[in-house]
Formats: sequence, structure tokens, C-alpha cells
Amino acid sequence: MSEPILKVEHLNRYFGALHATKDVSFEVPEGQVRAIIGPNGAGKSTLMDLITNRTTPSSGKVIFRGEDIAGLAPNKIVHKGMTKCFQISKLFNNLTVYENVQIARIEMNKKTFNILPVRDSYLKKEVQTYLSLVGLEDKMNDVAAYLSYGDQRRLDIAIALAMDPKLLILDEPAAGVAREEAYTLMQLIRDLAHERNMTIIFIEHDMEIVFNYADVISVLRDGEMIATGTPDEIKQNTYVQQAYLGGDVS
Ligand code: ADP
Ligand code: MG
Repeated sequence: MSEPILKVEHLNRYFGALHATKDVSFEVPEGQVRAIIGPNGAGKSTLMDLITNRTTPSSGKVIFRGEDIAGLAPNKIVHKGMTKCFQISKLFNNLTVYENVQIARIEMNKKTFNILPVRDSYLKKEVQTYLSLVGLEDKMNDVAAYLSYGDQRRLDIAIALAMDPKLLILDEPAAGVAREEAYTLMQLIRDLAHERNMTIIFIEHDMEIVFNYADVISVLRDGEMIATGTPDEIKQNTYVQQAYLGGDVS
């Protein structure tokens, strides 16, 4: 078996006396779509902040593609292949859809090829490919600020893809979009993951989305990871039944 793309080892995070992440250990194999669930305050956001190195652990470590991420600057982590999606506030609102993706691509090329200038025509083709993957090719000249919320999320996915991620982290992909759009977006993300052997970790409250699109689900409760399993296994979990399913499993 190949090395897991992500290994989380005995992660603890205190905020003062509050123990937000309690000795959390888990691994995610390459190409898997993993959901992290748990009620408000369970520690999901803290765990994602630890994985992306936005927060420093009190103890424990995060190994991404064989390397401890402690001490890696945010742009180093992106270049190593970890991208967090749905930071819509980071879109360049005054620029077009095309330009938003172009900037991400130029940034990635700069580091990869260093001194080689990137040919315009090559870049253009690449940007168009990312836009067509998310269904935005017809809107490439639209200004980002005027896109619908659903299309802004598509643009955010295109930008994330332009960073060539091996691990894509999504914070509540279904939040704020109509159910049908949420399903379409999740199907798109899942297909891309499985086609490209890209790993996904997503936090999500909507259990229908979780059970439909996750390969494996991990459950957080009071900072502890209490279960990991397939959707069918997690549906049988007593705590999940009580907390989410009203004791009624179909
Ligand atoms: P979730 O995302 O599952 O709702 P969080 O990770 O946001 O949970 O929060 C876990 C616990 O840690 C909560 O009790 C929350 O109040 C606390 N917490 C999170 N961030 C901070 C912080 N920066 N300072 C103090 N407490 C925090
Ligand atoms: Mg949260």
C-alpha cells in the first residue's frame, strides 16, 4: 500500500483551559474523499486550521506527503499541493473570471519553472481548461463580483484546481447554495478527485451530502475523533444516530 497523503498524529490544541482537539490521530490515503462531521464546537474548524498550519498544535504533528508541515509557510504548503477552497472573500472582485484563474496559474508557474517565461497562448489554454472543468468557460469575461454565489464557488474551485492540489480542503461546500447546486458541485468535486487521484477532506453539516459523496467519514465529538468508517458503517454508529439521525436509520 502507498503512503497516506496525510497523517495526523496525536494532535492536541488548547485554547487556554479549553481542550479543543484531543489526541486526534488519523490517516487519509491518496485519492480518498473524506468527510469530517460533528456538532458545533466539536473541533472541526480547529482541526482544519491545524492541518493547513493556520494554527499551531499544542502537541502532535501533521505529516503531508511525508513532510512535517510545522514551520512551512502558507505558500510553501500550497506549492507542496495542499489547497483550501471556498475562501470566496479572496476572489479578486474587480477582475474577470479568466483573470482570477490566470493569476493563480501564473503564481504556480513562477515557482515551478522559475526563470522560464510562460507563453501566453499556453497559459490561455490552461486557464480555459480549468474554467471548462467547472462549467464557467462561457462566463470567462464576466467580472467576478457579478457572478451568482454558486458561480463564485465554481470560480473558487477553478482557482483551487489551478494550484494543482494533491489535497483539497473544503469547508462546508453545501452551505449557502441551493440543494441542487450543492449536489452538482459535490458531484463535480468528487469526479475530479477520482479522475485525478486528488484527495478531498471536507467539513459538512448536511448529512445527505456527507452520506452521498464521502468515501469515508470521520466523526468528531468534543474534540475527540470517535469513529471513522464508510457511510454505511457511520450510519450504524450509535452516537451519529442519536446526534444526526434521530435514532432512525434508513
Ligand atoms: P467546530 O468547527 O466543530 O464548530 P471549532 O473548532 O470552531 O468547532 O471549536 C472547537 C472549540 O474550540 C469550541 O469550544 C470553540 O469555542 C473553541 N475555540 C475555537 N477557536 C478558538 C479560539 N481562537 N479561541 C478560543 N477558543 C476557541
Ligand atoms: Mg467550525
